[in-house]
Amino acid sequence: MNDEEDITDATRKMQFLYALRSKGVTDARVLNAMEQIDRGPFIRGLFASRAYEDMPLPIACGQTISQPSVVALMTQALDVSSRDKVLEVGTGSGYQAAILSKLARRVYTIDRHRRLVVEARQIFEDLALSNITAIIGDGSFGLPEQAPFDRIIVTAAAEDPPGPLLAQLKVGGIMVVPVGQSDTVQHLIRVRKTETGLEYDELRKVRFVPLLEGLGKDG
Ligand code: SAM
Repeated sequence: MNDEEDITDATRKMQFLYALRSKGVTDARVLNAMEQIDRGPFIRGLFASRAYEDMPLPIACGQTISQPSVVALMTQALDVSSRDKVLEVGTGSGYQAAILSKLARRVYTIDRHRRLVVEARQIFEDLALSNITAIIGDGSFGLPEQAPFDRIIVTAAAEDPPGPLLAQLKVGGIMVVPVGQSDTVQHLIRVRKTETGLEYDELRKVRFVPLLEGLGKDG
């Protein structure tokens, strides 16, 4: 890399982090994770050159990689600590899981599309992110064999927070999930599980692909 490319790269990174801050990402650990994980390797083909734009982009299997500011805000809302075991439903490109891997002890991520999981596993290996396990399956049932989880993040929109996921959340745990019909405005919900029950708060409006039942055609 020559000096000019170095400067362009540094400027692009500064602009990227500035955009995150201006959208309400204030947690230094989250900003640090977003700085460490380059979004480029998670996007292939035509859209690769747009990796640093704050927008969702198409990936394989008709799915999308989420907008970086939404990834960061969801991660911030999840309040992950280095002791936590985290479940992500909706691996997609693997970008969100990679960010979580910098903050958590262990990350399990599950997607209904085999191709997405296989490609994400390869990126995790290339980046030496050894605390992520990517699984092919229907994540609306969670991952009972690894439950309970300290944190659960769902990156596809559910009509309601899925019961099996709530059951697999530890007391003291947090789940972040977009809730609503796929073609309408959805709300990002944070659920805290306490000794006495579940506490919900509504964080912001979002737009995600739907949480679907069963495996994808390639599953
Ligand atoms: N977190 C991803 C990333 O960082 O690129 C973006 C996720 S994309 C918006 C939503 C993903 O949820 C898709 O890859 C889709 O296949 C997956 N999905 C939808 N329903 C699912 C289900 N029941 N179980 C597992 N994955 C599901």
